Amino acid sequence: MVIQWYPGHMAKAKRQVTEQLKKVDVVFELVDARIPYSSRNPMIDEVIQQKPRVVILNKKDMANLAELEKWATYFAEQGFYPVAVDAKHGKNLKQVEQAAIKATEEKFARERSKGLKPRAIRAMIVGIPNVGKSTLINKLANRAIAKTGNTPGVTKQQQWIKIGKSLQLLDTPGILWPKFEDQLVGKKLSITGAIKDSIVHLDEVAIYGLEFLRAHDYDNLVKHYNVDVSQDDDNIAWFEAIGRRRGLLQRGNEVDYEAVIELIINEIRNAKIGTYTFDIFSEIERDYFG
Ligand code: GDP
Repeated sequence: MVIQWYPGHMAKAKRQVTEQLKKVDVVFELVDARIPYSSRNPMIDEVIQQKPRVVILNKKDMANLAELEKWATYFAEQGFYPVAVDAKHGKNLKQVEQAAIKATEEKFARERSKGLKPRAIRAMIVGIPNVGKSTLINKLANRAIAKTGNTPGVTKQQQWIKIGKSLQLLDTPGILWPKFEDQLVGKKLSITGAIKDSIVHLDEVAIYGLEFLRAHDYDNLVKHYNVDVSQDDDNIAWFEAIGRRRGLLQRGNEVDYEAVIELIINEIRNAKIGTYTFDIFSEIERDYFG
């Protein structure tokens, strides 16, 4: 399902998440490990405020691990508790509970000193669509709880799911909108599948992806498509060569550019060529953190 975000709709989503946040001790902010900046909601700090936060970098299996380290360091410096996971294959999930314990240590120490009884840590997941919220809930719970797919807003009765020894997770994630203003962010959201019906033109998304791979993984790109193209050739030459090699032709033996665009986007999106983190920390720091 494609969510259309309108101002009224955004305000409602924010209000609902803010309301749910009152029930929890810690927030799990879920981001895509391939785009740890671009996959964050633009108002997330305003929404979460001072509540203890575990930043979960999901889809680790499709990301660049050296870049992930840098992002984890950055999030830790912000006072958050970062963990990188692969929710789909259930990797590293134990660390989520451990991070939640650390993030709430002070709060629970305060409760103990006031004589309050020990209790489970309450948590909820927040993130933009398609970042893996439902997949993570289901894996943590070890059963199918959350429907994968998206319904913004909260319609059903919410329940707590027991996870590990010390955690209770709200079964309904908070869904917030992605960043819309920035064209480059839009391309990154599209190339990773966060936005399916792109607000950016698909030819631009394919070109963005191709240029990223040409700059960062050239040898592997050439090998993957088995094409005879040089670094100096333009994107059209690449589209031509890939189209011919894969037999994506139209009448008159012309390359079917739309098919090539779709192929490139799908193969990058599904990590068929390699694993990448498109938000390179040093670039994001230079361009956005000021
Ligand atoms: P939600 O909209 O945030 O609830 O996202 P979903 O849980 O529906 O996941 C969106 C897509 O990402 C689905 O196709 C999942 O299988 C996939 N996905 C989720 N987590 C991971 C992961 O860690 N690795 C990979 N490779 N795919 C994932």
